[in-house]
Amino acid sequence: MLYENPNIRKIAVLTSGGDAPGMNAAIRAVVRATNFYGKESIAVYRGYDGLIEGDFETLTARSVSNIIQRGGTILKTARCKGFFHAEGRAKAAENLRAHDIDALIVIGGDGTFRGATALYEEHGICVAGIPGTIDNDLAGTDYTIGYDTACNTVITAIDAIRDTASSHHRLFFIEVMGRDAGFIALRAAIAGGVEAVLIPEHMITTDELIKKLETGAKNKKSSSLVIVAEGGKSGNAMEIAQKVDEQFSYYDTKVTVLGHVQRGGTPSCLDREIAGRMGVGAVEAILSSKTGVMVGIINNEIAITSFAEVVKTKKSISLEMFRINEILAV
Ligand code: ADP
Repeated sequence: MLYENPNIRKIAVLTSGGDAPGMNAAIRAVVRATNFYGKESIAVYRGYDGLIEGDFETLTARSVSNIIQRGGTILKTARCKGFFHAEGRAKAAENLRAHDIDALIVIGGDGTFRGATALYEEHGICVAGIPGTIDNDLAGTDYTIGYDTACNTVITAIDAIRDTASSHHRLFFIEVMGRDAGFIALRAAIAGGVEAVLIPEHMITTDELIKKLETGAKNKKSSSLVIVAEGGKSGNAMEIAQKVDEQFSYYDTKVTVLGHVQRGGTPSCLDREIAGRMGVGAVEAILSSKTGVMVGIINNEIAITSFAEVVKTKKSISLEMFRINEILAV
């Protein structure tokens, strides 16, 4: 395949929306691949805010040394109100043209891709996306950058909580991120060995939950852990814990909300690996004249999916994982 499109000389990169561990590894991959193909690499700071304000800087391969292992994003990220308006996007396109930038690679979630789609459709800017979000809720890829690290952070917390839970005969409700999707909750449930998991896609009633906990108590479990994804309809971990505590007093009930620790930390091997592959894939997609596409990984192969397809498709969660957890939690 030809990766030398002569019309593309400068490729810009930005991170946008929620930050995720591994974004730096993706930035590094984009910059290195851009340089490898003899093109110039431009950083855009603070997501679409920086695009509208022209906050640009030239990067070399050395500019991204020593960042592969760092959480967060050296380019900073932002939620940008101005990009929801046509005038904001027009200003962004004008800045890109004024700097002779021929293509833009965005690292973020579905909101970021909606913005990039508008930039491409309204102003013909060549764009490609890399999925960066801890939630793993994007179609067109098996894993998003940051998800694996977030799951590792959650299971490290679960391990620590279990130590104190079993010493004190406690029932812990652990709230994890996942407003619309329970990917973190369900994977961490199996990997952390918890008794029950509540996610937006598959809620169980308080009565059903209590029944499970009673079975555990009968089976002489010295503690019980329940993971709650933050976006569930039955309420947050605190509210669910209160309801359960009123009807089930076998354990001393506690709640831990993990919050933003899940967004930070050293990216895992998997997140760095996929960031590297997707970063190179995004530059190669641009250089083979693709635009308006996200570069993901499906079945361990690079997969190119249009932004339109990514944003309209809801990634389904495997309910088989529930069955597995039921078996493991006896
Ligand atoms: P994520 O990319 O993680 O889903 P957001 O949903 O916050 O994060 O989106 C990031 C940014 O993308 C927004 O702050 C906004 O600047 C831009 N954006 C999101 N949706 C749109 C849209 N429909 N049109 C234009 N820009 C959008």
